[in-house]
Amino acid sequence: MLKEDDIEIAELIRLETKRQNESLELIPSENFTSPAVIEAMGSVLTNKYSEGYPGKRYYAGNEFIDKVEQLAIERAKKLFGAEHANVQPYSGSPANFEVYFALLEHKDKILAMDLNHGGHLTHGHSVNFSGKNYAFTHYGVDEKTEMLDYDAIRKIALKEKPKLILSGASAYPRTIDFKAFSEIAEEVGAISMADIAHIAGLVVGKAHPSPFPYTDVVTTTTHKTLRGPRSAIIMCKEKFGQKIDKAVFPGMQGGPHNHIIAAKAVCFKEAMAPDFAVYARQIVKNAKALADELMSAGFKLVTNGTDNHLILMDVTKSGLTGKEAQLALEKAEIICNKNVIPFDKRSPFDPSGIRMGTPAITTRGMKKKEMKEIAGFIEKALKNHRDEAALAKIKSDVKEMLKGFPLPY
Ligand SMILES: *Cc1c(COP(=O)(O)O)cnc(C)c1O
Repeated sequence: MLKEDDIEIAELIRLETKRQNESLELIPSENFTSPAVIEAMGSVLTNKYSEGYPGKRYYAGNEFIDKVEQLAIERAKKLFGAEHANVQPYSGSPANFEVYFALLEHKDKILAMDLNHGGHLTHGHSVNFSGKNYAFTHYGVDEKTEMLDYDAIRKIALKEKPKLILSGASAYPRTIDFKAFSEIAEEVGAISMADIAHIAGLVVGKAHPSPFPYTDVVTTTTHKTLRGPRSAIIMCKEKFGQKIDKAVFPGMQGGPHNHIIAAKAVCFKEAMAPDFAVYARQIVKNAKALADELMSAGFKLVTNGTDNHLILMDVTKSGLTGKEAQLALEKAEIICNKNVIPFDKRSPFDPSGIRMGTPAITTRGMKKKEMKEIAGFIEKALKNHRDEAALAKIKSDVKEMLKGFPLPY
């Protein structure tokens, strides 16, 4: 047992479990997996090497591992309506690199969302592998609406003639029109790719339109709204399947993480159940309710609201920076992250906004009534950000509220 063998790590896990139970988790990329997912992750499947694919392995003894991976593949295809699925990617970032590696040459042009407008590091940041090895150009949101403008994106695509057009974001609070993206890609002869890391759970729960059947290649993490283990998958049209599989193994990865693949299969089964669609819709209802309460309290939200699980709030008017707001909320045990807002005049290290989301608190069972309470906590914490006693009082109120929504661990 861990407690006997390594008391230091055992104690840190105990403390982190307690922290997760007692803090209000508003980071939109985080969630609480089921005990079944954790059980699969903590299983003996981690002991096995299985380089290759089901039926074509480089090692003996893969009779059961093959069945696990095959189940994960079949469930992923069914869940998303995909023609082909690769369930081996270690996480969201490598999954994106594997797609680029599979379908492009070094320095080929990719059109993706501006990182300052909500794109991800792997969508061409200059310090990232993506930005160093591919020629990225970026589209952003409209300055007035703060939303994607598909005519503007089309114009950039026509001018730049990218080989791949990437949709998807880490900090965009509105619906993404994947059909419009794939039509633009088709018009300019580009491959269409969607990175639905944040919204995969909403997509399978029918709370956000799907990138299928329009999009050529779709990557997603499995640990955000999808509520599975920390990992990712790549799905694509059949014609790209072989290239994708080769890029994952032997192109970029070695042995698959079989315990995580099993946990992904468990997560896909959970996401197929009718109650997952109820969960996905509740995430959006909660985000809208929280957004409405915050706007009623006078806060400025980017795009003045949300269609998905995520809220981007400009805290400038409160006389705070994003970093200060994050810190004040953390002192009240409300966990969110500082974030740039579109056309931010401040630096990413201390930007003008904070990013919040409802996937984790919805997993805990919270609804509209709690969103009102949470908006009240946020308002009070930001107004009293220098008052340690006030923040401590909010922290105890948060803890009290969370007692009504216990986690299963
Ligand atoms: C989270 C995220 C990723 C990366 O996932 P990791 O598992 O953290 O590597 C990729 N793309 C988008 C849009 C994301 O939000």
